[in-house]
Amino acid sequence: MTSVDRDLLAELVARERDRYVREHPQSLALHQGANNLFARVPMTWMNKWAGGFPLGFSSAHGAVITDLDGHELIDFALGDTGAFAGHSPQPLVEAMQRRLGHNGGVTTMLPNEDAQWVAAEMTRRFGLPQWSFSLSATDANRWLLRLVRLVTRRPKILVFSYSYHGSVDETFVVVDEQGRIRSRPGNVAPAYDPSLTTRVVEFNDLDALERELAHGDVAAVLTEPAMTNIGIVLPDPGFMAGVRAACDRHGSLLILDETHTFSAGPGGATRRDNLQPDAITIGKSLGGGVPCGAYGLSAELAQRVLDAVSEGADIVDVGGVGGTLAGNAMSFAAMRAVLGEVLTDETFGPMEDLATLFATGLRETIARYDLPWSVSQLGTRCEYRFANPAPRSGGESLRSADPLLEDYLHLYGVNRGVLITPFHNMALMCPATTRAHVDAHQMMFDEAVAELVQ
Ligand code: PMP
Repeated sequence: MTSVDRDLLAELVARERDRYVREHPQSLALHQGANNLFARVPMTWMNKWAGGFPLGFSSAHGAVITDLDGHELIDFALGDTGAFAGHSPQPLVEAMQRRLGHNGGVTTMLPNEDAQWVAAEMTRRFGLPQWSFSLSATDANRWLLRLVRLVTRRPKILVFSYSYHGSVDETFVVVDEQGRIRSRPGNVAPAYDPSLTTRVVEFNDLDALERELAHGDVAAVLTEPAMTNIGIVLPDPGFMAGVRAACDRHGSLLILDETHTFSAGPGGATRRDNLQPDAITIGKSLGGGVPCGAYGLSAELAQRVLDAVSEGADIVDVGGVGGTLAGNAMSFAAMRAVLGEVLTDETFGPMEDLATLFATGLRETIARYDLPWSVSQLGTRCEYRFANPAPRSGGESLRSADPLLEDYLHLYGVNRGVLITPFHNMALMCPATTRAHVDAHQMMFDEAVAELVQ
């Protein structure tokens, strides 16, 4: 197996950083002039891009972003799935224009026909019959956790170590290598120790799951059908069925967060793998980047919530479930356009074919240079990790991270017009992604690796 020469890697990263600074003067000026933006960016995570400062954004269309210096970049990051529909697809543009036009209206506190269409479409795709809407996947998770605690009268939830479900307090908890539960490193001033609210085990560890659920205090297991926020960690065959069965044995509900795993197909991994959750959460991509989120409930869970409401729980006003702009007409128009005309059933096959091509190219390069890396694919999305075999848990995946190597590959791409997601090594295909885009990435990746292991 080839191992990466760290001195050479450091040299190459320095070279790529210099080039990045040299070739992005307008982006640098934007960053340096951002005196009233905290940390010089609109949101602190935007500093996560390799290169020391983010690209300044000028415009984006389809699968291509143009930065302030006029460079065009093939976008495989796609706003960390927010732009899974591609940037500003025509049906979305038209829907937004209608909403903003003379006979439009953005938010009124009133339901409309679009909302019914979207809920029916979510039911068709994901199977769950009852839907409610938020402005983000975070809020969908946050509100749903209240509902599952309400109906089960249990205080805790269970998540898998190093999962991510948005900025939801209960989820920032991990197990360390000694099996101890603790607050996730870096968790910003939690109001309380999250081990009070949450049990946590490693993904793909059914024995540990069984042991923790046996305490009988877990309202719900909240999980993605495959982990996607610490690289892609795929479930072992039978794992998700095992999770379902364990939940049933111990009276816990199962919530599947499909926010990213929507890449698995038009009805997410739930539909593709015939999973049987009690509830689903999702957001981001549904509205083509227009803020939206949703949670779906099984008929039984919906009835249990209504029963609890009749006993006094407040899901209408100030009970902690809801937001003024949630369910606004703009979000629904966006979701209707995206689900009805952009991310349709027919678009997933071609996008998945491109992701397979992308993954095959990565694997060929990795094999040619005998690198100990692996590639995982989840429908229209794929990802490489610096470990082989591919990690089976969040903890394992975390240990395979190599920030300098990531910086190198990301910067190498940006300097040559290819963008992958900054938080790890993810590439997502959208309906506007083409074979030429995938080929361009492959050529770049191959050259980057060739220079590294020359
Ligand atoms: N769930 C998952 C699986 C996610 O990956 C994310 C964000 N990356 C969220 C929820 C939260 O989404 P948002 O930040 O849009 O609320």
